[in-house]
Amino acid sequence: MAETQFTPRVFSGIKPSGGLTLGNYLGAIKRWVDMQGPAFETIYCVVDLHAITVWQDPATLADATREVAAGMLASGIDPAKSILFNQAQVPAHAELAWLFNCVARLGWMNRMTQFKDKAGKNAEKASLGLYAYPSLMAADILVYHATHVPVGEDQKQHVELTRDIAAKFNHDYGEAFFPLTEPVIEGPAMRVMNLRDGSKKMSKSGDSDMERINMTDDADTIAKKFKKARTDPEPLPGEVAGLADRPEAKNLVDIYAALSDTTAEAVLRDHAGAGWGTFKPALAELAVEKLAPISDEMKRLMAAPDEIDAILAKGAERAEAIANPILERTFDLMGFVRSRR
Ligand code: ATP
Ligand code: MG
Repeated sequence: MAETQFTPRVFSGIKPSGGLTLGNYLGAIKRWVDMQGPAFETIYCVVDLHAITVWQDPATLADATREVAAGMLASGIDPAKSILFNQAQVPAHAELAWLFNCVARLGWMNRMTQFKDKAGKNAEKASLGLYAYPSLMAADILVYHATHVPVGEDQKQHVELTRDIAAKFNHDYGEAFFPLTEPVIEGPAMRVMNLRDGSKKMSKSGDSDMERINMTDDADTIAKKFKKARTDPEPLPGEVAGLADRPEAKNLVDIYAALSDTTAEAVLRDHAGAGWGTFKPALAELAVEKLAPISDEMKRLMAAPDEIDAILAKGAERAEAIANPILERTFDLMGFVRSRR
């Protein structure tokens, strides 16, 4: 198949399934801000259609959507540099997802670990949408011919599935139409862990508020949560190898490194031998310094929902201008009659 040249384009999204966490900030938003610039066209999305794969109260979904958008804007996603919108305003995502449901194989979906984690023991009661979610995610990415997807470690398998869907589509319909998108998973905090259980990732939909730092938490709450974070009794080692069997310690060091734009090695060089009584307050102070300006701006934006809605509407129009021609070409390649055009 002939090689196709694709415009370097970034797509990524966050579900409005709860308040934003430090995991969402370090694993996603902070890096999205850094990718804005001449190297890429950047498209960022509040993926509300993904949120409803688990129950969302209609009375709160709109505000949750605006809060995620506010978190992105307050962190530095600039509508002049990036396209920012919510998924439900661009129908092409759901349309392409259906086409991809007929490309993706059941065997591939059955391997998705996130479905197993989220469905839990009672998978029979999970929604069909939760199972099909990776196919919609592939559509989110490929409806823009996105070449790069900055995500946390937990989404790696879904981006790989996106590549499988693109490759099978290209093979079946005889044209190198969809790019084989690269996941971009770089930095010290690609899997921020739950503060009470270092074997689980920090999630906005997790059970207890104490297990996560929310981007809107105030200084006292942040200090309290880090203070109560589970750790072992040992002081910090001088080298990263010393964190190998210490997931909770490694997590706090990685968070410190990501917040201060450095590496775990550099953090340990500065803090070797420190006990938790010293390191945890230093970490809390750093987190407050970085998050407080963002949370203040989020509060301002949340008090101006019309401003957010206008940005999302404009972004949706710009997104659709890219997505619709790609969707149309997909229908053509598959042989549909589209005589209304
Ligand atoms: P939910 O619990 O509803 O799944 P979530 O916190 O996992 O919420 P998502 O909307 O699923 O958030 O993911 C949004 C982005 O944030 C993705 O790129 C994901 O990889 C990233 N992300 C989520 N949690 C973490 C984490 N703990 N560490 C690093 N990145 C994360
Ligand atoms: Mg998630």
